[in-house]
Amino acid sequence: MTHQHGLLSGKVSLITGASSGIGAATAKLFAREGAAVVLAARRVDRLHALVSEIRRTGAEAAYIAMDVSQEEDVRRAVEFTVEKYGRLDLAFNNAGVGCDHESMHLMQQETYDDVMGTNVRGVWHCLQHEISAMLHNGVGGSIVNNSSVAGLQAIPAGAPYIASKHAVIGLTKAAAAEYAPQGIRVNSVAPGTTRTEIIAGWFDRNPGLEEQLHRATPQARTAEPEEIAQAVAWLCSDRSSFVTGAVLPVDGGYTLM
Ligand code: NDP
Repeated sequence: MTHQHGLLSGKVSLITGASSGIGAATAKLFAREGAAVVLAARRVDRLHALVSEIRRTGAEAAYIAMDVSQEEDVRRAVEFTVEKYGRLDLAFNNAGVGCDHESMHLMQQETYDDVMGTNVRGVWHCLQHEISAMLHNGVGGSIVNNSSVAGLQAIPAGAPYIASKHAVIGLTKAAAAEYAPQGIRVNSVAPGTTRTEIIAGWFDRNPGLEEQLHRATPQARTAEPEEIAQAVAWLCSDRSSFVTGAVLPVDGGYTLM
């Protein structure tokens, strides 16, 4: 069933890291709220299955295989969206990789490069190409970058992850300030621990960590991906029309403590 009166009805959206977790939940929610969705990530089998599932509801959905760390791939993803649906209105720059805590002075250089290449350079590439498309369209747009509570404070993760998520907030603020006059809003969400593949692996490798994080969280639980998606949908929608450059914690109160 399509939703002509949904929160995002008639909008065209691009979601990176849409093959699982928060990105997949956001793609499904955007579709339910009436947007056409382009799902982007590397695992084609996952993307294919998700797009079939979304299309069965009557919504518009397509996918493109891409790696956010490669500028050419990001350019292709934005071009694909514009060719398929005519323009780009909304983007959720969500693709990211985790990084376990280990002593900084012992870490491999490759770890730093991998995490920064995906989490920071990936968002950088996306912002550049999405903003270009939105400027060309001439009617503004709304972009949400996925940071983390690790973008606001140190958490029990690797230093490159914490640095990368702080950088996502820096890019968000810079882009928000620069493109506000053209009607492009740029915000970020800072999710707390959310039940996805990144987190399942992190909890498996670190027994007791989930309980430790629950003790540090006033709501004392792990989020469902849909709860993050709801905040992203609101930030992408016209209902948040005077919100730009913001960082919205969606963390059950974790960053209050
Ligand atoms: P998942 O591992 O389920 O999702 C990560 C997504 O990013 C996958 O779709 C993956 O797809 C994609 N991805 C990874 N690297 C690349 C790349 N180079 N190019 C394109 N896509 C890529 O975990 P989450 O849903 O939890 O993670 C989504 C985002 O949420 C990340 O940025 C993460 O840092 C952030 N976050 C997560 C939290 C949590 O507790 N879960 C908390 C705070 C923030 P594929 O492998 O198919 O490319």
